[in-house]
Amino acid sequence: MGLDVAWAERWVRRTAERIAEAKGELTELDRQIGDGDHGENLHRGFQAVVAKLDESGGAERTEVGDVLMVVATTLMSKVGGASGPLYGTAFLRAAKRSARREVDGSGVVVLLEAALEGVTSRGKAEVGEKTMVDALAPAVEAATAASDAGQDPAGVLRAAAEAAEAGAEATVPLVATKGRASYLGERSAGHMDPGSRSSAIILRAAADTAQD
Ligand code: ADP
Ligand code: MG
Ligand code: MG
Repeated sequence: MGLDVAWAERWVRRTAERIAEAKGELTELDRQIGDGDHGENLHRGFQAVVAKLDESGGAERTEVGDVLMVVATTLMSKVGGASGPLYGTAFLRAAKRSARREVDGSGVVVLLEAALEGVTSRGKAEVGEKTMVDALAPAVEAATAASDAGQDPAGVLRAAAEAAEAGAEATVPLVATKGRASYLGERSAGHMDPGSRSSAIILRAAADTAQD
């Protein structure tokens, strides 16, 4: 069974809830190696996304990409800092590749690849620089393997979420060479990158929503 616009909307609403719950955790991570606003930035952004979805009503959204486009434009306009334009571009690229009523397992891979490309084209970070790319790149890899193995969309997203969570954990020992954390140099080691953590939260919400 494919994932449709109703899944997309439930995913985004659940993401807003999970970001609200994780606001303190993300803020604390960003306090260690950044300026302590990542939780607040994303919370403000996703609350605005939910408000946008509420005010426009669901009838005009028929394709998965219609929902992701609301996320993209809202995050771009409401979230300052590095993460707003990065996540905004990720959702924009994903939206353009999901202009369809249903997304199957390989469609999920296409969507995730597009999101990663959005982040890397905007932020120029490679794997190992202690950014959200360290969660998203392994997620794409794991999703591709799961899809090639014939997993359904929920299984593909589960693989992506697991890889993103492991990728976020694996940023702890890294030295940041992109973004605000890079100003700390060697002192950035020993802390998890907040953006990699939020990426994992977003993907886990997608997987959990595909499950039920
Ligand atoms: P700011 O650093 O401007 O305060 P946020 O705190 O909201 O913005 O977001 C910080 C996160 O953005 C970092 O933890 C990192 O994951 C991500 N990030 C920063 N720069 C880049 C980049 N060039 N490429 C990818 N991700 C980045
Ligand atoms: Mg910050
Ligand atoms: Mg900031």
